[in-house]
Amino acid sequence: MNAPLLFPAPPIPTLPVRGRREVIPVRRIFCVGRNYEAHAREMGGTVDREAPFYFTKSALHCVRSGVTLPYPPGTSNCHHEMELVAVIGRPAFRVTVDTAAEHVFGYACGLDLTRRDLQNAAREVKRPWDLGKDFEGAAVVGDVVAADECGHVRAGTIELRVNGATRQRSDLSLMIHGVAEIVAHLSGYYHLEPGDLVLTGTPEGVGPVQPGDRLEGSIEGVGTILATIGAPA
Ligand code: MN
Repeated sequence: MNAPLLFPAPPIPTLPVRGRREVIPVRRIFCVGRNYEAHAREMGGTVDREAPFYFTKSALHCVRSGVTLPYPPGTSNCHHEMELVAVIGRPAFRVTVDTAAEHVFGYACGLDLTRRDLQNAAREVKRPWDLGKDFEGAAVVGDVVAADECGHVRAGTIELRVNGATRQRSDLSLMIHGVAEIVAHLSGYYHLEPGDLVLTGTPEGVGPVQPGDRLEGSIEGVGTILATIGAPA
């Protein structure tokens, strides 16, 4: 017998799928760090070609494209990071690079919003990045396009404009670890399930956002994303 919930269960964030009535329930959010060489360099970090590394965000911190997000608390240096999101569509555990794509339902544009001052402070003293990376609204994700429709994207322009000015512009082909490689690697550590999201890292050009900023991102063959930064919470 199911015991009644003492508190209401939180609503599960969902993502629209292009051309479909059904939406995708967001399960877990895995994020890859330093996956473009030029971004690793601008962060003063090194590149690891052997294996990707990760941090996570709470699924409850996922918001849809079109959101107006209050400028987050506790920071004076909140940065945009424009990223390709891969959406897991079939269970994946210990899959190979060759078969990993079969477990990806589709793709979306994403913004890995980052309290850079808090992330850097944590990094310096070798503490976890959570305060810098995992906060309310920190994962903005656009509409999902099924791989059946767009194919498994491996190349194409990824771009972010702030108030109409291009801040980030690169190509997916410059990712150090591609989607298949990331999914295969992650599946060695987790039983990946439908609705898990993977943010695959940002190219160079990250920078601060301000209240009133309008962020417009696009990825060739995938779609667009829009977020507006509002007054501080
Ligand atoms: Mn990122």
